[in-house]
Amino acid sequence: MVRLTFLGSCREIGRSGFHLQEHNESILIDYGVKLLENPVFPSRVPTDDLQGIALTHAHLDHSGGLPLLLTHDDVSLFCTPATRDLSTVLLDDMYELSKARLPFSGKDIARLERQCQPTAYEETIPLGRHFEITLFNAGHIPGSAMVSVRCDTKRILFTGDFNSIETQLNAGARKNLPKHDIVVTESTYAQRVNPKREEIEEEFIQSVTETLQRGGTVLIPAFAVGRSQEIMCIFEKYNLPGKYTVYVDGLARKVNEVVIKHPGYIASPQAFERAVERTRIVYDDRDRFTAMKKGGVIISPAGMLKGGPSHLYFRMLHDDPRNSIVLVSFQIPGTPGAELLAKRKVTVNNKLFDVAADVRFHHLSSHSDADGLMDVLEKIPGDPEFYCVHGEPDSCDALAEKLGNIGRRAHVPETNDAIEV
Ligand SMILES: [Zn+2]
Repeated sequence: MVRLTFLGSCREIGRSGFHLQEHNESILIDYGVKLLENPVFPSRVPTDDLQGIALTHAHLDHSGGLPLLLTHDDVSLFCTPATRDLSTVLLDDMYELSKARLPFSGKDIARLERQCQPTAYEETIPLGRHFEITLFNAGHIPGSAMVSVRCDTKRILFTGDFNSIETQLNAGARKNLPKHDIVVTESTYAQRVNPKREEIEEEFIQSVTETLQRGGTVLIPAFAVGRSQEIMCIFEKYNLPGKYTVYVDGLARKVNEVVIKHPGYIASPQAFERAVERTRIVYDDRDRFTAMKKGGVIISPAGMLKGGPSHLYFRMLHDDPRNSIVLVSFQIPGTPGAELLAKRKVTVNNKLFDVAADVRFHHLSSHSDADGLMDVLEKIPGDPEFYCVHGEPDSCDALAEKLGNIGRRAHVPETNDAIEV
């Protein structure tokens, strides 16, 4: 019997971590962080019998705690090469920003690259005597994977974050997954049904072009990994006129370099290269002031106006009604982005701003919506038992209920719950 312990991301988003133990061997899947005032990690487990760690994707809520575990040379990390490089970029950035509050050093982060055994999609790797892992494309961000673990006769799937539909950047998640006994699934948007992707893209392009045509500047606060590249690809697809400059600020420029280095992990490397070619990289404050003076579209972190250069742009652009601030992802309650959407006022660096610029929201998500989640999950053969994690409590409950309604066994685990499979 294999024992599965849920170490984090139970009824919450952040700090994903799962532990599998069989006899005297164990493996881990993901080990993330929840970035609060003081970072929170998944529960700790003994690592002396650890055969390896599998990582679904680079986002810090899945990868941010790895340096705590990679303390010995004999612990290997299994993920796609794109995930390895993107995780390193994100971890280095997190370290720069919150050094003093992290329980590891820059040297520990460097181990990730050294101890990684690059793993391709669909390749099956034995870990110890009891485990075998296979990665399947999850369609969420470049390099993202679902991790399928075989332990003796049982098979357990960890979906990580996944997107069932193809976007301009990512091919969708693998269809026709093999038979599984247990599925640990994300639940992020179990309560949301999105309009068709093309409709969202068209409305987004319309918001941007309206602003540009009236002489305004568009600020798009966006996550550096995934969303920024998706936006660039949408401009390429809809042929945003070349006279409007698209500026890319912050970490996204490093991420672009990594994505170009791994063309096998995106939907269309040619389209992505064209998208990158037409953007102007912003390196410093001088470039930032030039961008605001000349106008165009500015893609800048942080995604929910939580910080980074987006604050500088916001302060310069918020009081002109010709400009617009276009939000492209769900804005978590309590963030400046959510405040801006609800009240058209926002507190930035402890100062309250009234916003005259136009504020728009287009949900260009890289997760499956409720229909997409069900579409993938209900087709997994073997009548698996489902464990719904990685979502607000209501979303985890909603997904378990939807699965229950079609006669499937589904549960919502609490942190540190363990099951025998
Ligand atoms: Zn993610």
